[in-house]
Amino acid sequence: MKRLDIYPDYYGRFRCIAADCEDSCCAQWQIVVDDETALLYEDVPGEIGEKIQSVQEFDEDGDRVFKLNDGRCPFWEETGLCEIHRCLGEEYLCGTCSEYPRAVQDYGDFAEHDLSLSCPEASRLILSGDCSENDFIESYEDIPDEEICYKQEIMDLLKESRQQLRKIIMDNSITPSEALYECYHYAYDVQRAVDNEKYVCPEFIEKGMDSVPQISYTRFINGFLQQEILTDQWREILIEARSLGEMSICSAGYDDIVNALSSFDRGYRRMMLHYVDRYWLRAAFDCDVVGKLRLMAAAYIMLRRLQTAYYIKNKELPVSASERMVQLFSKEVEHNSSMNFEF
Ligand code: SF4
Repeated sequence: MKRLDIYPDYYGRFRCIAADCEDSCCAQWQIVVDDETALLYEDVPGEIGEKIQSVQEFDEDGDRVFKLNDGRCPFWEETGLCEIHRCLGEEYLCGTCSEYPRAVQDYGDFAEHDLSLSCPEASRLILSGDCSENDFIESYEDIPDEEICYKQEIMDLLKESRQQLRKIIMDNSITPSEALYECYHYAYDVQRAVDNEKYVCPEFIEKGMDSVPQISYTRFINGFLQQEILTDQWREILIEARSLGEMSICSAGYDDIVNALSSFDRGYRRMMLHYVDRYWLRAAFDCDVVGKLRLMAAAYIMLRRLQTAYYIKNKELPVSASERMVQLFSKEVEHNSSMNFEF
């Protein structure tokens, strides 16, 4: 059968910057070695072969992984390069390393490819792009016959409603905060359609910001601090943001902070588009439509708290600092399957 493969236009421009990377996918994360690569490793001779064998272990989930060495992959070198890649070549990288930060959401008859915000270089590409409608590239691939495991009516509804969400997010006549709020309202309308098995895309009706729910920022940030934390910098900026308490920049007197944050307007919108594009259609499998916006909402709320704390401390907010916050959120939270958010 033919599968439609869809790529964002920035996808092909990604290049790993290795030694110049301010983070590293070889740090803190445990690298899972797939069975096929593990078989390949069994025949590697010499010192590198012995090292590969000696650093493999099984984690608590039963996955075969490389034991970390001082918080890093044992094959990471000071140059930022990978010892396996240098000694044996790219074909000896396991699936995790050869693919990252590329990811695919595979729906059977079509697949959506993207990059992960958890990689700093990918994050820069994603956040700095335009917010245009036509930024996807399509191709077809022959794949073995596969059963389609979603209901077509739900998928059609989700695809159409995702277009509406994209329009809301890209609407420059409303602020990113208003866009987030409108997206949530609209998601509830779509959820009702799915729950009632009436798969007609609801009309979008603007709700305004009259009844925005109160958020306990302290409880929200504490929830993240109670999780396993991989990077010291993430812990530090969370603690700084928590020290703001329940301070709200919506009240008068914070114009300089509001202005600093608004300079990242396009970044917010690009981040929201990324999360909508990546997760919204997955509701075709579990019908939890509203839940597909939770990560986006958490990322947005957290980013603004982190930016506020940064600005108060440094009296400036460079784009690079905001991009780093987006990347760290993704690395620490998006890839943590046990994470729950309490607003
Ligand atoms: S995080 Fe991204 S840029 Fe950095 S080393 Fe890994 S793939 Fe390369």
